[in-house]
Amino acid sequence: MVESRTISSLERLKVPAIGRGGQCTAESILVRPEGFLVLRIDPGTRCRWILRSRIHRGSLPFRTVNSIPEQPEKIVLYPDPVLARPAEPVEVFDEGLQALVERMIELMRDAQGAGLAAPQVGVSRRLFIVEDDSEAEGPPIPSVFINPELELGGDLVPFEEGCLSIPDVRITVRRPEAVRIKAFDLQGQAFELEDAGFLARVWQHEFDHLEGVLITDRMNPRDRLANRKTLKEMRLDFEEDSER
Ligand code: ZN
Repeated sequence: MVESRTISSLERLKVPAIGRGGQCTAESILVRPEGFLVLRIDPGTRCRWILRSRIHRGSLPFRTVNSIPEQPEKIVLYPDPVLARPAEPVEVFDEGLQALVERMIELMRDAQGAGLAAPQVGVSRRLFIVEDDSEAEGPPIPSVFINPELELGGDLVPFEEGCLSIPDVRITVRRPEAVRIKAFDLQGQAFELEDAGFLARVWQHEFDHLEGVLITDRMNPRDRLANRKTLKEMRLDFEEDSER
């Protein structure tokens, strides 16, 4: 159950600075189940403090300032709530989007991943990248899928999956074998691809991220038990980071 909600540190927001009557740019807002708002103010602004205030959930006084944020620093880890909410469609195909994708490719390669979705770098937008070097003769070329849609077919096949946002956890997930994907590229051109192997698997995993779904949401009771300790530690680490 995700009761809390975080506005990604990478979405720059204007929020009323409660108690000061002015406006500040916040880097994160976290609403706890008990109704606390934790506000960490952007270090780049004058207002450097952490503010806690009891507010009603669902009435956050904010509006988005920039849709595509500055360059993401790192891969966001479980249980950051940005990973648990559905992402918004990409509407503008501009240099900011191009820069975001280039940064995502760097982060994916550094982490030796096969795919990375924008929410995993704190950007709640519907796009992901995939790089398959398994059959490559030359250097692998990453593919970009923007506002993707999937058509699924074939049998359900089990396969062990990992996730760059949940290192150390691997879960066997059953998914349809065949996928037709429709998406847009960085120039805004629509394209379609089909696969019934590794790529079909990665597309579905990354598409899940755009829906706010993680492999932890696809665990059976045995996986849940086996990974309970690791996930609990990650939750504690996240809590500590949020408090700082
Ligand atoms: Zn993942």
